[in-house]
Amino acid sequence: MSETMNRREALAALATAAGTLVAAATARAADAKALPHLAVNDPTAVALAYHEDGAKVDAKQFATYKPEQRCSNCLQLQGQAGDTWRPCNLFPGKLVNTNGWCKVYVKKPG
Ligand code: SF4
Repeated sequence: MSETMNRREALAALATAAGTLVAAATARAADAKALPHLAVNDPTAVALAYHEDGAKVDAKQFATYKPEQRCSNCLQLQGQAGDTWRPCNLFPGKLVNTNGWCKVYVKKPG
């Protein structure tokens, strides 16, 4: 039996590895979508002034707020682009609305 992997075997191994990675990423995305939505009366949400609709933030009350700031362009947002509800690093186990905002918003570079 040959000790070296021929080109066909190498390609088959790469395809299998790539398929495994895609399956794992798909499973993580599906798991994330099953998480509950963050409630605005959640104690941490209240502490960070999370708003489900960033357009309703009172700019006089929150001096750092700018109208273009949304969870969708915040550095802390995770998950799949295009999903309305996505994980946020600050609220583990919950999903935030991508149109939302909270007072620790940080603009995503780029
Ligand atoms: S940290 Fe960013 S993504 Fe998370 S709730 Fe606040 S504004 Fe939204």
